[in-house]
Amino acid sequence: MKDDKSTSGVDPIVRMDKVNKHFGSLHVLKDIEMTVSPGEVVVIIGASGSGKSTLIRCINGLEEFQQGYLEVDGSQLVPHGKASAALQKIRTEVGMVFQQFNLFPHLSVLDNVTLAPMKVRGWSRDDATETAERLLERVGISDQAAKHPGQLSGGQQQRVALARALAMEPRLMLFDEPTSALDPEMIGEVLDAMRELAREGMTMIIVTHEMGFAREVADRVIFIHKGEITEEGPPEKVFDSPQNERTQSFLSRVL
Ligand code: ADP
Ligand code: MG
Repeated sequence: MKDDKSTSGVDPIVRMDKVNKHFGSLHVLKDIEMTVSPGEVVVIIGASGSGKSTLIRCINGLEEFQQGYLEVDGSQLVPHGKASAALQKIRTEVGMVFQQFNLFPHLSVLDNVTLAPMKVRGWSRDDATETAERLLERVGISDQAAKHPGQLSGGQQQRVALARALAMEPRLMLFDEPTSALDPEMIGEVLDAMRELAREGMTMIIVTHEMGFAREVADRVIFIHKGEITEEGPPEKVFDSPQNERTQSFLSRVL
């Protein structure tokens, strides 16, 4: 965080060039250009309906796009791309945490975390369990491992979702409003876990309305308005002296 990784000369994890996405007649992403370097934390902000979720869902192939170039960790996702080897690879290397935790309700917390490493990575149950226990410890819920998601608070469930994503040893983590469904008193514990992850050098793209958190962890803030990136820069610059009037008006409503 906070040092300039964009000029480090290493290959970017995400490279998007003039990516366009339509839902029928709705032009949802317009000529999106975005490069994310290893270790960088990018926060995406913008009004509801501006295309933030669609943008990050394109990055792990949950949505297809119609035009442009999109490369994730050296694998190219092609326009109109359906099942491809690149898509498989990207899905195993990109972790995602959603607003709704999307845990498997019938599985214990531990089994939620061990499932993908065993099924997708082929790890033994012992290895997967050891990793899961370490991750649950790291997000502060090792005492909940035997419970089912329904027995946990929202903040705890979201930390399980984070541990589950990290169990796949992702190269990139995507977050789509991870605290928006939480009661206010639980937001801090999830942000703390994310802050720690950022400190450890994880590459992260985060959609959030938590502006204080964004200012603190982001290397770069991207503002989207109606499917277009209209402003981008270090947090101090975007938050304290936004140049674009759309950004100014958005920030005046949320800050
Ligand atoms: P945000 O996350 O910034 O709130 P979204 O990416 O969810 O915005 O949505 C951007 C636009 O695309 C909105 O107008 C939304 O209604 C539309 N949209 C999102 N998903 C779909 C879909 N599956 N089918 C049709 N329109 C969609
Ligand atoms: Mg959204």
